Amino acid sequence: MFTMSTQNPFAAKREQLRTRTPMRCPICHGALTKVIIRDIGSLAPGTVWQVHAGECEEHGWFQTEVVKRPPREIFAVTRPFGAARRVVVDGHEYYAFSTVWSDLPGDEKRKKTDPLEEKFWEALPLK
Ligand SMILES: [Zn+2]
Repeated sequence: MFTMSTQNPFAAKREQLRTRTPMRCPICHGALTKVIIRDIGSLAPGTVWQVHAGECEEHGWFQTEVVKRPPREIFAVTRPFGAARRVVVDGHEYYAFSTVWSDLPGDEKRKKTDPLEEKFWEALPLK
C-alpha cells in the first residue's frame, strides 16, 4: 500500500521500478512467466493506464487492462495483445475471470486504491 505522506502515490517513478505484474494465473493462481506490461498512457497526472499480459506454463496467456482501478476481469488470450480464447476448466467454458476487485461493494471501490495492489487482482474461485 502507498503511504498517505506521498503526494502522488501513483507517480511515474514508481512505475519504472515495477518489474512484475500483480496478475497471477486465474486458474491455478501460479506466477506468470514472460510478463509484458504496456503503458498505454496517462489519463491524468498520477493515473495508471496499462495492459498486463503474462503466460502460465500450464494454462496459457492471460491479459488485463488497468485503467485507474484494479482490473475487474482477467481475460484468456491467444498471445499478448491477441484475440480472446476459450478455456475449459472441469467442463465449463471461460473467456474471462472475475477478480476480487469486481466483487467488492461500491463504497469499497470508491476509496482511493492503488490499482496495482495485488490482493484486488486475485481471481475469484471458479464456480
Ligand atoms: Zn495456471
